Amino acid sequence: MKAICPACNNCSQMGWHKATISPLITIPCDSCGTELTVSWKNYLHTVLPASLWFLIGYLLTEESSIEQYLVIGSSIVLMTLCQLLFLPLDATATDNS
Ligand SMILES: [Zn+2]
Repeated sequence: MKAICPACNNCSQMGWHKATISPLITIPCDSCGTELTVSWKNYLHTVLPASLWFLIGYLLTEESSIEQYLVIGSSIVLMTLCQLLFLPLDATATDNS
């Protein structure tokens, strides 16, 4: 999975690492080495649809039913896809100086 680095504007081959990035976890750009991160605002916007799907599905399905496991599994898949496809990256402030 490619991502555009905000520091060098090159495509960074982040692969599945982009699914693990968060405001607390940085990943280095493979072109320039800048530590890439995401803002809390962008992160929460990106995970919101999957979080709502999880919450509504969890509350409306029977405990330990196959439907509840499907809701949990599909919300994990949805959250991963949203992060890979829509999450905008930021350069960390310490590497901009
Ligand atoms: Zn870069």
